[in-house]
Amino acid sequence: MAKSDYYELLGVSRDADASAIKKAYRKLAIKFHPDKNPDDAAAEEKFKEIGEAYEVLSDEDKRAAYDRYGHAAFEGGMGGGGGGGFHDASDIFSQVFGGAFGGGGGFEDFFGGGGRRGGGRQRSSKRPGSDLRYDLEISLEEAAQGVEKELEIEKEATCSGCNGKGAKGDAGAKPCTTCGGQGAVTRQAGIFVQQTTCPECRGAGEVIKDPCKECKGQGTAPEDARIKIRIPAGVDSGTRLRSSGNGDAGYRGGPAGDLYVFIHVKQHEIFEREGENLYCEVPVPFGAAALGGELKVPTLEGQSSIKIPAGTQSGTVFRLRGKGIKDLSSGYKGDLHVEVKVEVPTKLNSEQKEKLKEFTESIGEKNSPIEEGFFEKAKKFFDF
Ligand SMILES: [Zn+2]
Ligand SMILES: [Zn+2]
Repeated sequence: MAKSDYYELLGVSRDADASAIKKAYRKLAIKFHPDKNPDDAAAEEKFKEIGEAYEVLSDEDKRAAYDRYGHAAFEGGMGGGGGGGFHDASDIFSQVFGGAFGGGGGFEDFFGGGGRRGGGRQRSSKRPGSDLRYDLEISLEEAAQGVEKELEIEKEATCSGCNGKGAKGDAGAKPCTTCGGQGAVTRQAGIFVQQTTCPECRGAGEVIKDPCKECKGQGTAPEDARIKIRIPAGVDSGTRLRSSGNGDAGYRGGPAGDLYVFIHVKQHEIFEREGENLYCEVPVPFGAAALGGELKVPTLEGQSSIKIPAGTQSGTVFRLRGKGIKDLSSGYKGDLHVEVKVEVPTKLNSEQKEKLKEFTESIGEKNSPIEEGFFEKAKKFFDF
């Protein structure tokens, strides 16, 4: 399936800066969030797509890779990993520069599925395992306080039958005779000399005479792993955490890949988050707003209260310092902004209506500060 352009998905121009991208993403993420669109598969798909677009465009390295190579920058090279296909951008570049330019293949070889197994200059059959991606959804509370999560991941683990060697017993790997241990063979194709992966050892440069039956010489076997990770306080949607060595086990004893955990913070029913600040609206009965007093407000840590002055207008914002979210890198804690929404009573009986009329007459016209200013400005629109 053809993928949509990440810039188009977020509705931003190709030279949009980081804050414009973030803003566009937030808007769309709220619009298409599964909580807001229950049982809407199209919205869910869109939500995933914009999440993917944001992860790439919000990361300088990945954005640069995407600008150069498009979606191809993030495809291929994943082998049999169960977690979906994604590599850190630095991996992509090391494959391109270390492989394509030094070896024989073009970009397609490296991006189109060859990945690490396509390299032609491997001396040893050991190869690092693939990096894995895990998308983790957490609540705003968990994001604010930090949390420990146990992830269930299907991944390649070191084969227990051969300890990752790929060979039965003590019999190790012997250099491949077809390619002389180079992992690649050359052949003449017209006027070109083409270098391709050795068909005998499939690029390993070594052949195992007596392969382990359990893993067929791979040294790895699929496993349902449980991995505990600590999510630090302050993560946000788009935060990517690396769990070193928890990706796929390496091929024939090579080093393991890494596990990348992509954080998605669920929308909260009360709070909206922007960076380290939180925002919420709190309804206030009309009488309480007029008289002022103590107002109960929610915070992520529980109930708190603020004093509102007499005559508080709808839309007034009160700031609770330090009741926001800790910044992931600086540790600085943001604020909670509480916007007061004055409520007008809707179910009045006739006695209450009568009293309200009396009351309205008693305060006269000179008691509505916003209205006065408004009519002053609007005069010319009313005088025809
Ligand atoms: Zn084995
Ligand atoms: Zn070979």
